[in-house]
Amino acid sequence: MVSRVIPVEDFDLVIFGGTGDLARRKILPGLYRRFCSGQMPETSRIIGAARGDLDDAAYQKLIGEAIAEFVPRDRQDKDKIKAFLKQLHFVPIDARGEKGWPDLAKLVRKDAVQAFYFSVGPGLFGDLATRLHDHKIAGPQSRVVVEKPFGRDLESAKALNAVLADSFDESQIYRIDHYLGKETVQNLMAVRFANVLFEPLWNAQYIDHVQITVAETVSVDGRGAYYDKSGAMRDMVQNHLMQLLCLTAMEPPSKFDPDAVRDEKLKVIRALDPVPADNIVRGQYGAEGKVASYIEHSENPETKTESFIAMKVDISNWRWKGTPFYLRTGKRLKARMSEIVIYFKETPHSIFEEDAGSHANVLTIRLQPDEGMDLRVTIKEPGPGGMRLVDVPLDMTFADALGPDAEDVPDAYERLIMDVIRGNQTLFMRGDEVEAAWKWTDPIIEGWQTRGDKPMPYEPGSSGPEDSLMLLHRDGRRWREIRK
Ligand code: NAP
Repeated sequence: MVSRVIPVEDFDLVIFGGTGDLARRKILPGLYRRFCSGQMPETSRIIGAARGDLDDAAYQKLIGEAIAEFVPRDRQDKDKIKAFLKQLHFVPIDARGEKGWPDLAKLVRKDAVQAFYFSVGPGLFGDLATRLHDHKIAGPQSRVVVEKPFGRDLESAKALNAVLADSFDESQIYRIDHYLGKETVQNLMAVRFANVLFEPLWNAQYIDHVQITVAETVSVDGRGAYYDKSGAMRDMVQNHLMQLLCLTAMEPPSKFDPDAVRDEKLKVIRALDPVPADNIVRGQYGAEGKVASYIEHSENPETKTESFIAMKVDISNWRWKGTPFYLRTGKRLKARMSEIVIYFKETPHSIFEEDAGSHANVLTIRLQPDEGMDLRVTIKEPGPGGMRLVDVPLDMTFADALGPDAEDVPDAYERLIMDVIRGNQTLFMRGDEVEAAWKWTDPIIEGWQTRGDKPMPYEPGSSGPEDSLMLLHRDGRRWREIRK
């Protein structure tokens, strides 16, 4: 298979917060990989901006070190790194003051695509947007990229949307959810809408239930104080799991076009039922040996914030009524694993002996660790012994299916940044979508806060609290195992 890399238009990308963790760990290593693939024009420029007193050379050195640290060694090419770093510039700037803005105005070209990445805390979005506007750096063609968290409730999300809307049109705003940039997530759309095989079965008549799991092994160590104000519901469910649910549940859009896709996702969010308390299990990891517990990491002995949540979600529309979506995410779990699993119903009647064994089809869409899909189908067990049935996987791990080309599959950030330059908003969240997601989330959080619910303790390295298993057991179902 030959991969086709189509170079993007010439661009100036300004990264506010260009010296921060996200820029050094994800954005710039990602851009380096796109440079190596030939997708970045040689004339394009990346301009880091932050308060630090750096010049171009010092910034290039900083990013050179970030590439050495965060790009796998076998993908580091001395000559390419040198050429890439030449495209980097730096402007010392204060989002809240006047320092640096005239310099940035002089530097940013008007005859290339202009993108401004707000890789800073959301408290600075308004300052950046206003100054880009006042200094006439951004125009109607410019694009702004904003990072999560996009608000912590409906009110704050509305305020952020309003601040951005003062300076930019919605068509210029790219709200990143890096889950949407994953190869598998786009493949979910390809599988659903480019094959005739699945769509007729993609409804409550044929699908028993759906499980969406995003399990992490990491703790909140080092960012406990920040995380404690958020928790798994705000940090993961409102955005990442919600997006996965939407892409799984949405109606076919009329075309693969940003607004057509986002309209359909919005309809799903609006059709979500409120979630009653007994359909939610929240958890907090305990201590293990020398590794501290959530309470110790959060530095708040009274904390009731959840590091784990499992919930049963119902969608009230014709397609899904009666098919629950079970969502689960947490820190310090058994393995790092993200997947969407579609459990089809059993055949309406079995023509085989009762003891032949019967298995319902299961489609697994793996996001990590190894992106791919796996469809379990039932076949006859080979050999003698009569008609005995066994389920076998039809496995498509992308790395195997694509061979050496899989190396060049861009990671989520790379793909999304190139989409910004191309002006394609399909994989970015629209303002009304984010607000609808908070509108659904807020009463759920208010519910447990009003009741004063405490999260259940769970053992680090486990699958979460026992009660999360019960959430499915009581419906006669079970979670797929969290495994390496
Ligand atoms: P960080 O490491 O704290 O970096 C913040 C950056 O902003 C630094 O470059 C800082 O440089 C700059 N900055 C701070 N105040 C400024 C000001 N007044 N004017 C201009 N620049 C200013 O944060 P981060 O982890 O990179 O995260 C950035 C954003 O992305 C946050 O909103 C975060 O929630 C989000 N995010 C991060 C990650 C991640 O993995 N890190 C993942 C998802 C989302 P100076 O102090 O020198 O100005």
